[in-house]
Amino acid sequence: MTDRQKLEVFSEILQYRTVSRQPGEVPDMKPFMEIAEYLKKAFPQVHRHFRREVVGGGSLLFTLQGADLSLKPIMLTAHLDVVPADDGENWLEPPFSGKLRDGRVWGRGAIDYKAGVSGMLQACEDILETGFTPDRTVILAFGHDEEVGGETGAAEIVRILTDRGVSLSSVLDEGGYIYSYPWMERDVAVIGLAEKGYLTLRLTAHGVQGHASVPEINTAAGRLCSCLAELEKNQFKAKLCSPVEMMLRATSDMLRGFPAGSDRSPTPAEMMHIIEKWPSGNALVRTTTAITMIRGSSKENIIPAEPYALVNFRAVPGDSSMDILKHVRSVAEPLGVDVRYEDSNLVHEPSGIASMDTDEYRAIQAAVRDIWPDIPVVPGVFPAATDSRHYCIIADNVYRFEPVHLGQDGLGALHSEGESVSVEDYLNAVNFYTFFVRSVSSA
Ligand SMILES: [Zn+2]
Repeated sequence: MTDRQKLEVFSEILQYRTVSRQPGEVPDMKPFMEIAEYLKKAFPQVHRHFRREVVGGGSLLFTLQGADLSLKPIMLTAHLDVVPADDGENWLEPPFSGKLRDGRVWGRGAIDYKAGVSGMLQACEDILETGFTPDRTVILAFGHDEEVGGETGAAEIVRILTDRGVSLSSVLDEGGYIYSYPWMERDVAVIGLAEKGYLTLRLTAHGVQGHASVPEINTAAGRLCSCLAELEKNQFKAKLCSPVEMMLRATSDMLRGFPAGSDRSPTPAEMMHIIEKWPSGNALVRTTTAITMIRGSSKENIIPAEPYALVNFRAVPGDSSMDILKHVRSVAEPLGVDVRYEDSNLVHEPSGIASMDTDEYRAIQAAVRDIWPDIPVVPGVFPAATDSRHYCIIADNVYRFEPVHLGQDGLGALHSEGESVSVEDYLNAVNFYTFFVRSVSSA
């Protein structure tokens, strides 16, 4: 296939409106069925050699049996679903156009995560065309509900693989990219070795409902607000988990504005206090506290009896949901505010930390060095959650890296208006996945 044809396939994949179902909505599975049909046409070798299964009505699971069954399979995963997109002003091309313009392919899902779906399939297609047969079993897993938790996609795939007794050597997922943090002078390729935990707490203050013309001096809403302010004042302690410490060590000479004339690089501990001033740096070194929803009464002249707030926490490796609950209670309870889980099914502990001493990590490193020789490879932590929260149960290691440049927005590029991937990045992503699959699947 020529590069032009590969780009046309990627563009076509962006045109399917595989928008993830929102809570309370009936899922529209038609685009998922249509894209699955299109993939059959676009990647005939993959569909000839891999076993293909549709899971949960929209997710796709591909398995290519390796020659050596004593080797644990590898999985590459991406997701077919995308977050909704309105035609905002930053879309130079409509979000489901898949248009090629100014050296970029535009469309919702271009980064998150159809460059993965398309790039992984294209890599396998290219490899199969050369007659390659893997020693190690290769699994591709494309969820259809990653953006809303992965319960019917990735979780179901895990159940199927568990029933088959499959234990994965590794999973390659999204969550690390090529970009620079605001304190860095240049781009690095961040390989996410871990992802943060997830927890939302509901804080409720109790009082008496009343008329706004005769308020008490101290209302439940006032106590709730004091409590929220206290929580923001009493942030979790900054700490360095091993991937972040290694990242800081590896990038100490790229730090913007470290005291001019200093004859030494800062230590990771010094860097920790420098980077915590940026939200993206703070998120690397601390369990974050984000007040997201506040609810009082339904009318301007009613004093609420039970105002509440939802606060979302993302735990760094080393902190747990129990630590968070204890901390929040210690702040809230003296103020008469009670604390409970908003949804105990949506509590995720921070992931384990993947090993750097594996063939897979070395293959990722070697692939990046081969394709982008000037870009340093550094370990890191992804502050959000991916389908790997499910896959980690059956995998020895999870690596998070999608080989695309995020540009100035950094992680803000995910879900942004005007999502796009450069032509060069897409073709390099195919090369990256080709390099990775070839080297990791041969004994
Ligand atoms: Zn994603």
